[in-house]
Amino acid sequence: MPGPRVIIVGAGPAGLMAAETLARGGARVVVHERMPSPARRLLMAGRGGLNLTHSEGLSEMVARYGDRSGILSPLLEAFPPGALRDWAEGLGQETFVGTSGRVFPRALKASPLVRAWLARLAGLGVELRLRSAWSGWDGDGRPVFGTPGADGVPEAADALLLALGGASWPRLGADGGWTDLLAGAGAPPAPLRPANCGFVADFSPALSGRFAGAPLKAVELRFGDISVRGEVLITSRGLEGGAVYALSAPLREAIARQGGAVLEIDLRPDQPAASLAKRIARQDRKASLSNRLRKAVALPPAAIALMREAGPLPPDPLGLAGRIKAVRIPLASTAGLDRAISTAGGVRFEDLDAGLQLLARPGVWIAGEMLDWEAPTGGYLLQAVFATGVHAARDILARTA
Ligand SMILES: Cc1cc2nc3c(=O)[nH]c(=O)nc-3n(C[C@H](O)[C@H](O)[C@H](O)COP(=O)(O)OP(=O)(O)OC[C@H]3O[C@@H](n4cnc5c(N)ncnc54)[C@H](O)[C@@H]3O)c2cc1C
Repeated sequence: MPGPRVIIVGAGPAGLMAAETLARGGARVVVHERMPSPARRLLMAGRGGLNLTHSEGLSEMVARYGDRSGILSPLLEAFPPGALRDWAEGLGQETFVGTSGRVFPRALKASPLVRAWLARLAGLGVELRLRSAWSGWDGDGRPVFGTPGADGVPEAADALLLALGGASWPRLGADGGWTDLLAGAGAPPAPLRPANCGFVADFSPALSGRFAGAPLKAVELRFGDISVRGEVLITSRGLEGGAVYALSAPLREAIARQGGAVLEIDLRPDQPAASLAKRIARQDRKASLSNRLRKAVALPPAAIALMREAGPLPPDPLGLAGRIKAVRIPLASTAGLDRAISTAGGVRFEDLDAGLQLLARPGVWIAGEMLDWEAPTGGYLLQAVFATGVHAARDILARTA
């Protein structure tokens, strides 16, 4: 007997991982992708080295998903980081653990992995239909697909899996255009919001004009009782970079609640204020403040400019040391979804059963970033994206057997 016919929409990591699991389980799989080529966001992630997952213990990893830890825990246990690394290695992509515990393929890019993966999927009989966009359901509940310049055509299937991604970097294909369709199907999603994103600050034209693109390395960011070390990048509109992304969820929520948030930057986190003050005091008093700071503390010009944004520089060494240890930057808003690494919000878990099937529309499963969870960078995004793809596919196989 032929296996079930399963339609997957979205050729990102969630959809393709589901396709592989389903095809191995005997399903006949067709993947529809609106873009002219698959996995564009995965390939973009490859530009940063492709952080596939993290090497920490599973319980530590699960905690990274915050409110959704309880829901995602069994899915991550069923497809843990070790399984993800084995899978990548099965595609000829040996992995290694970086100094921060993050896991990368040795090639430090996604293209060899995607090439080998697509060849494997073709070998398993998975049919990939490019430039084919899902636009909803017809009157008989069949999904409808349109190609450029042609009317939508309904297709029958035993199961439909939607893996349409979030709404960040929309030019790569996932633009969140599905939210109304899901709301119409009885599953109104939680609003899509930027995650792992930059922020807008009211910087003077002098700072943003001269220092946009300048990094501040090995700084400590503080917000409330959370502190994070890493790199910050000054942009033409504000701040972005790894350390900012790590604080982006609490900053975003504070801005939504109270219209703004103040981020504190410690430019020299390893040096106590007293020793900074001593070194500044030793400098020639006739030299400009900038020169004294440069010589005493080796602060780059961008850091000194940022200190000035927070108000006139205090003249005394202790005051200057205090400013170095706590530059306060008021943030007005997130920098928007366009440049965010990922998306918060999406299809609510309350609208799904344990197998990720929509309660309001049986026969439709959801996977990947279009689900309502978020996580910091560090490999946690792809880990959960792959795990939800595997989980939904296994559930489809169990229900259509
Ligand atoms: C710059 C950047 C760097 C990143 N680096 C990392 C990293 O190093 N590690 C990490 O863990 N994560 C990283 N991420 C996040 C990661 O890429 C995403 O979490 C992941 O790609 C989401 O997978 P997905 O399959 O759910 O969605 P996507 O990868 O977005 O795939 C969804 C697919 O659905 C298609 N689609 C959407 N709507 C339709 C429709 N109506 N009809 C047909 N097709 C449709 C889209 O075209 C797209 O191809 C990065 C993201 C960005 C932007």
